[in-house]
Amino acid sequence: MNVADSEVVKALLSGDGHGLTDSIEDADVVLVNTCSIRENAEQRVYGRLGEFKKLKARKPGVVVGLLGCMAERLRERLNGDKANGVGQIVDVIIGPDEYRKVGVLLHKAWHGEKGVAVQLSRVETYDDITPLRTDGVSAWISVMRGCDKFCSFCVVPFTRGRERSRLLSTIVKEVEVLSLRGFKEVTLLGQNVNSYRDGDADFADLLTAVAGVDRSIRVRFTTSHPQDMSEKLIRTIADHSNICKYIHLPVQSGSDRILELMNRTYGSSHYMRLVRSVRDAIPGVCLSTDIIAGFPTETEDDHRLTLELMEGIRFDGAFMFKYSPREHTPAHNMNDDVPGDVKSRRIDEIIRLQKSISDEINQGLVGQAMEVLVENESKKSPADWQGRTDGNKTVIFPKDGTSPGHYVTVSIRRANSATLFGAVEPQSLRPVVRRMLSKESPMKAPAGIAA
Ligand code: SAH
Ligand code: SF4
Repeated sequence: MNVADSEVVKALLSGDGHGLTDSIEDADVVLVNTCSIRENAEQRVYGRLGEFKKLKARKPGVVVGLLGCMAERLRERLNGDKANGVGQIVDVIIGPDEYRKVGVLLHKAWHGEKGVAVQLSRVETYDDITPLRTDGVSAWISVMRGCDKFCSFCVVPFTRGRERSRLLSTIVKEVEVLSLRGFKEVTLLGQNVNSYRDGDADFADLLTAVAGVDRSIRVRFTTSHPQDMSEKLIRTIADHSNICKYIHLPVQSGSDRILELMNRTYGSSHYMRLVRSVRDAIPGVCLSTDIIAGFPTETEDDHRLTLELMEGIRFDGAFMFKYSPREHTPAHNMNDDVPGDVKSRRIDEIIRLQKSISDEINQGLVGQAMEVLVENESKKSPADWQGRTDGNKTVIFPKDGTSPGHYVTVSIRRANSATLFGAVEPQSLRPVVRRMLSKESPMKAPAGIAA
């Protein structure tokens, strides 16, 4: 979400005539887009601010801006706050709904005036702004902002405000442009995409419209709330070959008592039923989840229920976190009573279990041929490409004969819990027209391009 937001800010700044630099030493302005979701995310930002302090000592004219969720929490601290020195380092603080003011506030900052813009909005979606993206294979598209769910542990409704959706028509236009530019994957983003609404159109309608723009573009989305995942949405994913068969469905806990305290509005049996219907409707679907360990009052029995749910479902992957109390949230008023060492042990058990499940699932893929979208050079080995399967599994394979943006078939030779390794099947090294299901309309050439 922050990558997508930063692209909106870059578009606004480039409209004002500013340019981008990769080198912090060359920059006249340094903007850091922040996250407040957990304490350690904020700690990392404080660490970065320490670096910017040194930069300012070397280069006094440089303007530092803090954008995003932390802006909502730090607004009081801009003038003063000797304690952590934010006011000495940061010149401009801009919340997620006030990015349009970035140009004006930077201009004032150059003239010595500090600026804060942290108003949350019920309507701002930046719908009219085309994010400034570097050409590539994958693009993020924010389709809605904010969240109305108020899970008791979560700061998002307080830092990003109420839920609101972009227009379906502008999202489709954005995908048409991305298609012309050669992008091969879009990920539709929202805190709860299932709440997407534009008039009568819901998220399933949006997915159908986006998938129809260019069948060679893969469509992903994140995140779905288990309470609102409809039959219609499941069918839509099943019916379109270019909507990835991968769903991130955060469960948070396997204990109904904890889920209730978390205000997640579903219980474990609803979640299990949902997973069953997803798997029945979408054979081979890959599932991932989010889990929180050590929520207030969590007992060993609650923790065991989480491990049992994980064993029962066997997620392909999971993002796993220790509970982190956030100011203003209802859970903050509960006693953060699970001791640190217990939280650490529980999260270790959760991570270890997930690792072994992911490893077993991935070992089962060895010997299979999988369609992979080539994305970029492998971070660890310059002789290899990295790509992803439809189910969002990372695959590493030797570079020969292909390049980013192509679909190739990779035969999987070995695997670990995080990655598959293989080699491209030579017969797949030709332009690929993705398979189409009979329910779909024929491949449509984007406007202006010969079919
Ligand atoms: N909107 C998404 C999640 C956004 S935050 C959803 O509801 O699925 C991503 C994940 O961070 C959450 O799913 C949760 O697992 C984790 N998280 C959020 N607040 C947290 C907190 N206070 N402590 C620990 N983990 C938290
Ligand atoms: Fe936070 Fe819950 Fe909203 Fe996700 S659905 S952003 S966890 S309040």
